[in-house]
Amino acid sequence: MKIAQIVAQEILDSRGNPTVLTTLTLEDGTRVQSAVPSGASTGSHEAVELRDGDQKRFGGKGVLQAVANVNAVIAPALIGEEVDNQQFLDRKMLALDGTANKGKLGANAILSVSMAITKAVAAQKNIPLYQHVAELFGRPTDRYVMPIPMMNVLNGGKHAIKSSDMQEFMLFPLGRGSICEAVRAGAETFHALGKILKDKGFATTVGDEGGYAPSLGNNEAPLQLMVEAIQGAGYRPGIDIGIALDPAATEFYDSTAGKYHLATENIHLTSEQMIDKYADWLKRYPIVSIEDGLAEDDWDGFVTKTARLGEHLQIVGDDLFVTNPERLQRGIELRAGNSILIKLNQIGSVSETIEAINLARAHGYTAVVSHRSGETADTFIADFVVGAGTGQIKTGSASRSERIAKYNRLMMIERELGERAEYATFPFKR
Ligand code: PGA
Ligand code: ZN
Repeated sequence: MKIAQIVAQEILDSRGNPTVLTTLTLEDGTRVQSAVPSGASTGSHEAVELRDGDQKRFGGKGVLQAVANVNAVIAPALIGEEVDNQQFLDRKMLALDGTANKGKLGANAILSVSMAITKAVAAQKNIPLYQHVAELFGRPTDRYVMPIPMMNVLNGGKHAIKSSDMQEFMLFPLGRGSICEAVRAGAETFHALGKILKDKGFATTVGDEGGYAPSLGNNEAPLQLMVEAIQGAGYRPGIDIGIALDPAATEFYDSTAGKYHLATENIHLTSEQMIDKYADWLKRYPIVSIEDGLAEDDWDGFVTKTARLGEHLQIVGDDLFVTNPERLQRGIELRAGNSILIKLNQIGSVSETIEAINLARAHGYTAVVSHRSGETADTFIADFVVGAGTGQIKTGSASRSERIAKYNRLMMIERELGERAEYATFPFKR
């Protein structure tokens, strides 16, 4: 079936900032829409998110240029093409852009169309989106792995002012039997945490990803509170629910001094001292995964950390790898990390995202499909993670509708699959 029309427009994300929505129509009338998310703690090696820079509109954050690039450059090139050819169409857009970082057309422009293509094929064939994604990966379509969710119940860093320096403290319900039970355990623990914070007199307002954002004065207090909340909700820390961290350390790395600055504790640590801190925490808390525990270009630190802790700990590269097969390849050669965070808009097309996941898999790296701190109601990543079968997703806390929409979609997929769904296992020795 051929593409008949592609139209983009500017909409708002969950923080009230502009983003791109694309509507794609096929010749038989099939119509789909897809919206692009946006980060706050963006890695410097990410593909370019094109913003207008016109301070009179949205403080420079408008995306009218990216919208125009879809409507005036991408649409004319793709209309009339057969839609069921993801790689060909993605490559065509990459060629139209012509840069290494999608700086000309914008990764936001390209990705909105790329995701719409994926959705359009599924809609046209009248199959679920996750099934079409599985086909793109060449995976079986008779059984699916439901992901373990990383639920970010305490927000800090760039996602909540006056909270912890470290960005994300996440529940990781690895010991449950289904996504429905995992989401339930996460939501119950989120509520138990809220009650503890309230009883102790801390704020229960939430940050960008829907987790609480209290001013606790140091970076270890969140861990103690999480263990308390897990127990309070009737679960066993480390058995039913583990803890996953995303310090997003690039954000507190002082490159001039070459040190990590934990402002709430007023301490400056070397890379080695940061690793010591994590090693100490691992002994005392049920931490199973740490993402961006070090800064985006601290390759040596990641290598050391992986050698020291990588057997039992999942060490995820987000700003480190930026969903980029080339940076991941470097990590594989150096043995830096053992897992990659997958954000479609970091690289800017569905095909390249699939390539990054396949590369990770081929080398025994796990892959965690992720939302951004600025999201929309689009639930593409829920279907994407099920189709990809990577077994882990990061999509926020048990609050804020743009986060809940993904959990709800996962629960609907699980129900639809019935016996054909199995819950992922966590592959690291514990
Ligand atoms: P971001 O944060 O979307 O603001 O970049 C998410 C993350 O660091 O994982
Ligand atoms: Zn991150």
